[in-house]
Amino acid sequence: MYPIDRRENWHAGQGQWSHVSPEDWNDWHWQLRNRITTLEQLEARLKLSPEERAGCLFAPHKLALAITPHFFNLIDPADPKCPIRRQLIPNIAESVVSFGESEDPVGEESTMPVPGIVHRYPDRVLFLVTDRCASYCRYCTRSRLVSNAQDYHFHPELEQGLKYIESHPEIRDVLLSGGDPLLLSDEKLDALLGRLRAIKHVEFIRIGSRIPVFLPQRITPALAEIFKKHGPIWMSIHTNHPREVTAELATACERLACAGVPLGNQSVLLQGINDDAEVMKSLVHRLLMIRVRPYYLYACDLIEGSTHFRAPIQKGIEIIRALRGHTTGYAVPQLIIDGPGGGGKIPINPEYVQAIHDGIVELRNYEDRAYVYPSGSQMPDPKPELLD
Ligand SMILES: *Cc1c(COP(=O)(O)O)cnc(C)c1O
Repeated sequence: MYPIDRRENWHAGQGQWSHVSPEDWNDWHWQLRNRITTLEQLEARLKLSPEERAGCLFAPHKLALAITPHFFNLIDPADPKCPIRRQLIPNIAESVVSFGESEDPVGEESTMPVPGIVHRYPDRVLFLVTDRCASYCRYCTRSRLVSNAQDYHFHPELEQGLKYIESHPEIRDVLLSGGDPLLLSDEKLDALLGRLRAIKHVEFIRIGSRIPVFLPQRITPALAEIFKKHGPIWMSIHTNHPREVTAELATACERLACAGVPLGNQSVLLQGINDDAEVMKSLVHRLLMIRVRPYYLYACDLIEGSTHFRAPIQKGIEIIRALRGHTTGYAVPQLIIDGPGGGGKIPINPEYVQAIHDGIVELRNYEDRAYVYPSGSQMPDPKPELLD
């Protein structure tokens, strides 16, 4: 289905907005102003199923509808199961809450010492700097606070967050997220990164953002300069399907990489979207071609109304098995389950280690062939009489 990747097919272009001037199209403020945010705007461009229509009416109570024109063009209108469509178009299935699902599936609220700071791991914090995104993923882990559809009333307390980081010398790693930090203005980002860089114990700064994917126009030369100035700033983007890897995203990543921003990708394993080894292989190959290293592949969190998105974890393990050894090692992400209720990230791996006993490790390689490795720590002690 996805043969050799050919970059000449990656150009997304203006699609349904061909009448718009290229200046407007390439202006990220224009893209934001012209997002699809209402049922009427959506129906004017796409024939919806009754489930999607009902989903759009439900969305204002859960997680707002918003799709940038750039990303909307990636939808195949002829395919009701289009993997792009399903990530962004609301569905009434979101109103069905199943066993085990909750509004804070990874237990962030219980590890928030001040609003916006999640301090779960000893040496690093997640810093939520906004509650807005360029477009909203229907499986969002943070839908309780993102887009302001529920009654959370998140007010990003940047000053309070900065003070917390300043006064905790054990924090050496700050991950900016939200919402999407790249929705902040250049001035705000410049000031925020400057403040963080000025904290002596903060060694590592990274940004989690889907803006390069939803709104590649945001990655302007001026923004790249800000990252260069405060660098090294690392960035994790979020793609789930090879079709998201457009020429426009490639240009944005090129600009970031040339400003010295190391790039990773996080994907969520989504039923019927990317729970397939061939689809994931195509995605990770394309990512390497645009200088992005696949970092994590997450099992979908147990957010309320996400049953229709969750794939069995065996699918994820199968995907890793199909990648490891069969393709470039750099292309293989780590499969992760974020422990429900606050367990943090737990790596899930295919069982290459069959057993460890009597000073040996029994192994299976990527072709499922058996190997034995004598394990150093289990080696018998040399006999004392042999030592002199
Ligand atoms: C994911 C996450 C991090 C970063 O984890 P890494 O494994 O270092 O990428 C930090 N804090 C929280 C609360 C997180 O959820």
